[in-house]
Amino acid sequence: MIENFDAKLKEYAHLLVEIGVNVQPGQTVRLRPEVSCAGLARMCVEACYDRGAREVVLEWDDDFVLRQKFLRGAEDIFGDFPAYEKARFDWYLEQGAVDLSILGSDPELLKGVDPARMQAYRRAAGNAVRAYSDALDANKFQWSVAAHPVPSWAKKVFPDLTEAEAMDALWEAIFSVCRIDGDGKAIQRWREHIDATARRCEKLNGYNFRSLHYTNSLGTDLTVQLPENHVWAGGSEKTDAGVEFVPNMPTEEIFTAPKWDGVDGRVYAAMPLALDGNLVKDFYLDFEGGRIVDVHAEQGEEVLRHSIDVDEGSRYLGEAALVPFDSPIRNKGILFYETLFDENASCHFAFGSAYPTCVKGGADMTEAQQKAAGLNQSINHVDFMVGTADLSIVGTTHDGKEVPVFVDGNFAF
Ligand code: ZN
Ligand code: ZN
Repeated sequence: MIENFDAKLKEYAHLLVEIGVNVQPGQTVRLRPEVSCAGLARMCVEACYDRGAREVVLEWDDDFVLRQKFLRGAEDIFGDFPAYEKARFDWYLEQGAVDLSILGSDPELLKGVDPARMQAYRRAAGNAVRAYSDALDANKFQWSVAAHPVPSWAKKVFPDLTEAEAMDALWEAIFSVCRIDGDGKAIQRWREHIDATARRCEKLNGYNFRSLHYTNSLGTDLTVQLPENHVWAGGSEKTDAGVEFVPNMPTEEIFTAPKWDGVDGRVYAAMPLALDGNLVKDFYLDFEGGRIVDVHAEQGEEVLRHSIDVDEGSRYLGEAALVPFDSPIRNKGILFYETLFDENASCHFAFGSAYPTCVKGGADMTEAQQKAAGLNQSINHVDFMVGTADLSIVGTTHDGKEVPVFVDGNFAF
């Protein structure tokens, strides 16, 4: 049993509602938990109303039902996103609702599902809710993603423990990396963490690099140009209305967007990628003029290929994120099989969409303007980890000066 569990869980709920989505009086909240996370979800509901929420709308996910549908549903349902579901997203947008997701799934939930079904579903859903996801990416409303252990996930992370022990161990890990210890001071610790991250962003923005050059002993040799008006961000974000929120809990990354057509060379993954319930292992991607021209994976190559073929934008990078090798999550030495955590253990890229806020004024640009400014567009966004203990990143400024950004896997400044 975890010491002080109820106090920690309550502290977690408050953290998600107050620092995560930062619910404002009168706001509608869209809350998405898995059914086995009902305890935490109900605490979040309570905390939202305590903050003066107008209404908290629950959208329960059920992993069992989802798996049954993907394995046994009729072929034609996957390419057809129902109009009533799309209407719900439009309604959230009208309401200016905030979006809080609580993930908790077996990392291999969709193992064995035909990748073509996943691709059809992704395409249909991605296109149908494009307006919503664009607004989310542009921080038009507060949103946050956090996680809750479920037994199948916990057993995957801690295969040598009993189910009950594994659940406790995963809870302990989540509490720890979310800076929760039941003393009621998690919110204060998060404010300090957000401030420290902001100072590092300022430094990177001050250099205004033209490009970054990544190398390591795996064989990575990649040059990544950055858009002229790129912005490094991390920790917290702000909506247009000036409401601060934290999109990911936990978060250790500082990120920007690569110039979509300015990536060349080869990059090796440093960790397996959990993709649509499958694991992709030991892979690399080759780039020419920004485009992924080839991939190779020792395991899961077909799944990876389907993912980069969801649309043309999936073939280009949309995110470059810096995370020191010596980070709290990496130091746990745990592979979470969940991007929300694993991306905070390692420098990473994402293929697919860029966050519009990664260039100055990007959130108010048209799609064509965003693209011209260097931002990639896609209905896809998949993070993959590239940070190793020996990763070197050298930045080049617009006047040709070379500045070490990462030395031996950690920030050089
Ligand atoms: Zn990231
Ligand atoms: Zn990402």
